[in-house]
Amino acid sequence: PAFALLEDRLVGCRACPRLVEWRERVAREKRAAYADEEYWGRPVPGWGAPDPRILVVGLAPAAHGANRTGRIFTGDRSGDWLFAALHRVGLAALPTSTHAGDGQALHGTRLVSAVRCAPPDNKPTPTERDTCAPWLDEELALLLPGVEVVVALGAFGWAAALTALGRVGAEVPRPRPRFGHGVEVRLPLDGRDLPLLGCYHPSPHNTVTGRLTEQMTDEVLGRAAVLARM
Ligand code: SF4
Repeated sequence: PAFALLEDRLVGCRACPRLVEWRERVAREKRAAYADEEYWGRPVPGWGAPDPRILVVGLAPAAHGANRTGRIFTGDRSGDWLFAALHRVGLAALPTSTHAGDGQALHGTRLVSAVRCAPPDNKPTPTERDTCAPWLDEELALLLPGVEVVVALGAFGWAAALTALGRVGAEVPRPRPRFGHGVEVRLPLDGRDLPLLGCYHPSPHNTVTGRLTEQMTDEVLGRAAVLARM
């Protein structure tokens, strides 16, 4: 019920004028390949296990991905890459994620994004980032203390995860730990050390160029599964 209430409020959020205009315009104009589909065109909630041990923090919905399908990392190439990797390491039921109701399910894992509405060029402004941050804080507070590992995708997800973890009581070192692929830090939180892992974002910019390979992705997600005793 707590998640249902959170999602009800989230999907009605219109706090960022530029993103509201963009998400709705993309949903009206569509891409030719999806002309027959009804786009979601709203904020995209977190998705996966309601009581996860692994929380994966991404950047923001893709205009023709989650902004179309309504499910995070579903229907675009970043999501294809991420779900295939989650499946290989045993955290997803299927290697693909195409639409809500496709049979996909995550095991002990939940995906959330730092910014919940699709931004132009996948780039939220600092103001939009900060305006959306309380949604992540609220979701994280609901998920703790069950979360045993946080995986941040890209520098943006890393910064957002550190901010949210600090706000829910984790001790974040100063200066803040720097993002990198495979970086692992421990944040003291309520008498334990919560691991935060960095992973390059699985966007085509990284995967097509070979900056992020399947093996590199599997290593970080597999490490998360080990730490979470999955
Ligand atoms: Fe609301 Fe976040 Fe979307 Fe801004 S990005 S309108 S704060 S849900």
